Amino acid sequence: MGRVVGIDLGTTFSAVAAMSADGRAEIVHNRDGKNTTPSVVLFDGDDILVGEAAKNQIASSSGDIVSYVKRHMGSRDYVFMPDSSDGSYGPEHISAFILKYLVDGASEALGEPVTDALITVPAYFDEGQRNATKQAGVIAGLNVLGVLNEPTAAAVSYGIDTGFEGTVLVYDLGGGTFDVTVMKSGRGVVDIVSTEGDRNLGGFDFDNVLIELVLREFVGRGGQPITDTAILAGLRERVEAAKLRLSTSASAPVFVSSDGMTEKIVITREQFESATIDLMLRTEYILENVVEAAGLRFADIDKVLLVGGSTRMPMVRSLVARVAGREPDTTVHPDEAVALGAAIAAEVRTAHSQNREAELAEGKTVRISDVVSHGLGVAIQSSAGTMVNYLLIKPNTTIPCQIAVDDFGTVADGQSELNVQITESDEDGCDLRYTNILGTSLLKLSQPRPAGSPIRVVFSCDIDGVLHVEVTDLADNSYVGEMEILRTATLSDAEVSDLTRETASAAVQ
Ligand code: ADP
Ligand code: MG
Repeated sequence: MGRVVGIDLGTTFSAVAAMSADGRAEIVHNRDGKNTTPSVVLFDGDDILVGEAAKNQIASSSGDIVSYVKRHMGSRDYVFMPDSSDGSYGPEHISAFILKYLVDGASEALGEPVTDALITVPAYFDEGQRNATKQAGVIAGLNVLGVLNEPTAAAVSYGIDTGFEGTVLVYDLGGGTFDVTVMKSGRGVVDIVSTEGDRNLGGFDFDNVLIELVLREFVGRGGQPITDTAILAGLRERVEAAKLRLSTSASAPVFVSSDGMTEKIVITREQFESATIDLMLRTEYILENVVEAAGLRFADIDKVLLVGGSTRMPMVRSLVARVAGREPDTTVHPDEAVALGAAIAAEVRTAHSQNREAELAEGKTVRISDVVSHGLGVAIQSSAGTMVNYLLIKPNTTIPCQIAVDDFGTVADGQSELNVQITESDEDGCDLRYTNILGTSLLKLSQPRPAGSPIRVVFSCDIDGVLHVEVTDLADNSYVGEMEILRTATLSDAEVSDLTRETASAAVQ
């Protein structure tokens, strides 16, 4: 086994961290000597450029550049086809190029090959998205130790750094994703109490609002509406730079050029803040929900942490301070906390799997518990005859967990089979249309039963979130069957090995 790292595979920026010889988590620099790497990939003939080099060419080769791929993670419908070659790439494959670039760079920086990694994911990622992330790691040639929720990782880095005990709230607003998590931390234990997020809310959306503002002003001054994708891509870069400036200055200029007309458009922070108020309200709504779901009031929260680059916007700080009734703690580095926590958790997992817990330094995280971020249940027939969801494991239940329910029953006289459908949904009693079916199995009863004959269903969820379902016929306590719901596979094993071979020889740089 070579070096073990923690990887924050972000929508817009990624980072790698490893444990130093003296037992501290440290960011591993990328090949450019930077702490974070843009999650951007450029296809240039046979060459695959990742990071800064790719991002720098966004305006000139937009048809060959892919960014924000994490938003498509776990989707089978998304493929990227570069203009300049005839390849086509799914989200796992593109993410694997990013991971390979990060890991190759980390191996060089550490002077040892990196073989194992723990990769972080947003807390609200479902089974398919988590699995796709693991597959990306495998395709990149890694031994994936597992996935870990980003806010858990952030809190781990925080707890380890300061030895804090109490209830922690993490507000993470990154480039393309948002989530809020409440957890209890102390004596080396981090437990998530509740978590919720929005997959389509991040700095990207603030950039969009700013682009609209600038374009409206440009047209107002007599400019032609801009539709050219290369010009828009260049504008996006300049607008993002202006947004960063607005975090520290009261105004920032954006230059817009099109059809021979160049305008300097100055945006004030006030303009920006009032144009993005709806986005901020969406975060406020989720923030309040999560605390309520935890059964807490803001007065019960001891620490509020801000994670993600977008939390550098002053309006985020004031919103969180106003809603939470306390100043957020800004000692956690918003861009690095997740990777640092992942490195610590990776070390803990490795130590546990090798029974080396004793080697973990005193006071270190001994257990990092996690929760199921989406409810798990089975489909049942309602009294009205329609199929509805029966929730067995509620969202935010700490894993590992086990729940047995004896209330199920056969529905027809002479029934000899059970059609067991496993659902993923947060709501009990909802129509099946609002659930995600994770697996279906037709199980045979030992003999036909009358309607209403009792059936037991046991759900066990392990630390990796793999769900094990066992069904018992309570009429004679006979075993009916069991199923293992591995996270819904997005790619088949064969596809993963093909892509792994291909990626190993790809010219990723
Ligand atoms: P992710 O985890 O989603 O990859 P990050 O946490 O790295 O994202 O945050 C990236 C986002 O943060 C980008 O949208 C970027 O524009 C934004 N960002 C970074 N620094 C600042 C800043 N000083 N002011 C406002 N936004 C910022
Ligand atoms: Mg992030």
